[in-house]
Amino acid sequence: MTNVVYSKGSAYADARLDELHHPVTGLPGAALLLDRLGQALAREPRPGCGLALLVVELDAFDIRDSGGSVEADETVRVAAACLLKPLGRADTLAHLEGCRFAVLCEGVRRERAAQEVAESLGLALLRPLPVAGRHRRVSASIGIAIAEHPDHDPRGLLATAERCLDEARREGGGTVVAERVSELRRAERLTLEDALRHALHERQLRLLYQPIVSLPDAKVTAVEALLRWQHPTRGLVSPAEFLPVAEESGIIVAIGAWVFREACREATRWPVAEGRPLPVQVNLAAAQVVAPDFAQLVDETLAQTGLPADRVGLEVTESLLLQPSRPIVLRQLRNRGLRVLLDDFGTGIWSRDALGHLPIDAVKFDRALVSRLGDSCEAREAFAAATATAGALGLRCVAEGVENAQQADDVRELGCGFAQGYHFARPMTAAALRGHLAGEQPSRSPGRPSRVLGRLAGRPRRQR
Ligand code: C2E
Ligand code: CA
Ligand code: CA
Repeated sequence: MTNVVYSKGSAYADARLDELHHPVTGLPGAALLLDRLGQALAREPRPGCGLALLVVELDAFDIRDSGGSVEADETVRVAAACLLKPLGRADTLAHLEGCRFAVLCEGVRRERAAQEVAESLGLALLRPLPVAGRHRRVSASIGIAIAEHPDHDPRGLLATAERCLDEARREGGGTVVAERVSELRRAERLTLEDALRHALHERQLRLLYQPIVSLPDAKVTAVEALLRWQHPTRGLVSPAEFLPVAEESGIIVAIGAWVFREACREATRWPVAEGRPLPVQVNLAAAQVVAPDFAQLVDETLAQTGLPADRVGLEVTESLLLQPSRPIVLRQLRNRGLRVLLDDFGTGIWSRDALGHLPIDAVKFDRALVSRLGDSCEAREAFAAATATAGALGLRCVAEGVENAQQADDVRELGCGFAQGYHFARPMTAAALRGHLAGEQPSRSPGRPSRVLGRLAGRPRRQR
């Protein structure tokens, strides 16, 4: 394992060692990595010499095969040992969470050098890993942020590397995406940060609403609120363009509070369908959930809007749930009647044990999984196994990004009771949604409702 050296200036000099290391691998954890990164960035730069931060995540493997959390932990430990092998003495390998690692390399002269490190990490995982007497194949996606200037902040650099990792994962795994964090980007970021603050105060933020339907009858059972920025010159801006900066800068906490209030307020106006009022689902960023007053904000908002707690769903990602302290507030909120949904499910390592211990009511299968269903039997089998696992734990299964009738049929056959996607309805304005709900007809063709719901979608013009 890498040596951990505490310098005098380290903010963590007094912290307990075991708190700074990941309990599964014993590698430095995120806090220690950020500390080291801060020190590395503060060191006198040498001309032409930069620093690379690589975030490595093992690509999803079949939940059915993971054999429970003990075996998943073992896989992660063996993978960590493989990742260590090609690294130099000065490099730091950290274990961020689950199956996500980070590598800090100093003295990187060219972008190519950082890519070579990434390639050597990919090669190190090429051989099947010996886990519990079997051989398991894994691959990894890697995001790289390269900083050439000392004036970068560690969290920002980590967020950039993680964003590149997300891009790599969207490519389907086994991919490397790199980004050079130049001064220009930093300036751009500050401008965007200011513009976002302005947007919040000048009421330029909007919510679109996308129905979630039950299968096979395609009736609306819940609605997800999706954020947009109505920019004065650029039109409707997608969250992908501004959420990274909102998260890095912390503005997401204020934006998230606005989203929650606005979505709850709007939900009180929805008509009651067949005696069952519709729940609204909002996406939460990690920073919102760790904010000390999050539960209070939820309580106050529900009290002010009069929306009952059981009409609210909170959509959270696996990385948020895997943090040691975050599920506590979610457990408290579930006890008060709110529902918690695991968003983007199926993109990381999951085991039945791990899933069973999370404070969640439903899983939302990532669009990437849904889009692969037509490609291979393995993809279908893995999907069916995952819905069976979730179903056995009493969790609802929602398929995201269902774009056509074939996918709607597929996800239903493979165990999803609910779906969301362009096939049923696109995200739409609050007014369009109300019209949609008021005029909703029962589907005539179970599983293939494209005609009726296509007309009702009320597709706003400037959509992605
Ligand atoms: P998400 O939570 O996974 O939301 C689903 C995304 O898929 C939305 O993108 C939605 O418009 C899009 N989508 C829905 N059906 C389909 C389909 O059939 N095909 C395709 N290709 N896409 C579909 P959107 O609205 O751009 O949001 C992107 C992400 O931004 C969301 O992903 C969520 O992670 C984040 N986000 C959105 N609103 C908020 C918010 O209020 N707070 C936070 N923290 N994050 C948000
Ligand atoms: Ca979501
Ligand atoms: Ca999602």
